[in-house]
Amino acid sequence: MTPAAAPYRGRFAPSPTGDLHAGSLLAALGSWLMARHAGGEWWVRIEDLDRPREVPGAAGRQLAALAAFGLVPDGPVVRQSDRDALYRAALDRLLLSGAAFACHCSRSDLAASGGVHRRCVARARRADPSVRLRVPDGSVVAFDDLVCGPQRQDVARDAGDFVLRRADGYWAYQLAVVVDDAEQGVTDVVRGADLLDSTPRQILLQRALGVPTPRHAHLPLLLDAGGRKLSKSDASHPLDPARPLPALRAAWRALGQRDGALDDATDAAGALAAARRAFEAERIPASRFPSIAAAHNGGDANRP
Ligand code: GLU
Repeated sequence: MTPAAAPYRGRFAPSPTGDLHAGSLLAALGSWLMARHAGGEWWVRIEDLDRPREVPGAAGRQLAALAAFGLVPDGPVVRQSDRDALYRAALDRLLLSGAAFACHCSRSDLAASGGVHRRCVARARRADPSVRLRVPDGSVVAFDDLVCGPQRQDVARDAGDFVLRRADGYWAYQLAVVVDDAEQGVTDVVRGADLLDSTPRQILLQRALGVPTPRHAHLPLLLDAGGRKLSKSDASHPLDPARPLPALRAAWRALGQRDGALDDATDAAGALAAARRAFEAERIPASRFPSIAAAHNGGDANRP
């Protein structure tokens, strides 16, 4: 008997570094629409591992704003800050199997290789080394993105042995997101295209942990007038939860969907119902594969 395919479970995973803005609404709406289109569930996870960047109260305001936009999660909202034991257990498994190793290299030790770690070159031992995933030479990862098409990256060359736990004790985004998606049974990762180039590292980590690789769909990013990604800390584009319709219509258009489909809606629930009926996944515009920045590999491992 062929096993039944896992039912669709998507998620939206905001970091509480500011209020919900137009760019994060796009990711929230896009992931919600893809989930509903597939008859699946949509969950929300608060990614609050990066304490220094967290804005007090932001997580609560993000959840309240999502609710005002009609986007209500189908499962429990979890917070990464409560999930230390899960990350610890995964890291211990990786250390035990030899897939991960303690590393004493500092950012300046790795400056000569552009931050890419291929072997330890530490000039001094640290009291608290970081932990990296070993990425053997020739680790080329290919995957098919449902929006952006076929992708391929030489992770050893572009990212190197990447950080799973930082020297300051913080869990790296890459480890936490892979452990959480696996533990929560996420089948579909739908998020902004700024994370397209994190995906090959996450796939390597899924293989090392022996957990399934979800399907991926990376959504277009909203850019500011200078062509830069709107960041969550960019307060110039706050969303007004009291007026959800203009923001929902803007996110709908940014997803490449048919203009006018939400025109008759008078509230958020009506707009979402219309969006669900009119949604065409194949209209979402594809983004280009962004280049890998050296900062991905240094001590700042919470930044994807
Ligand atoms: N927490 C990440 C962000 O807000 C998203 C992570 C993900 O969707 O994998 O950019």
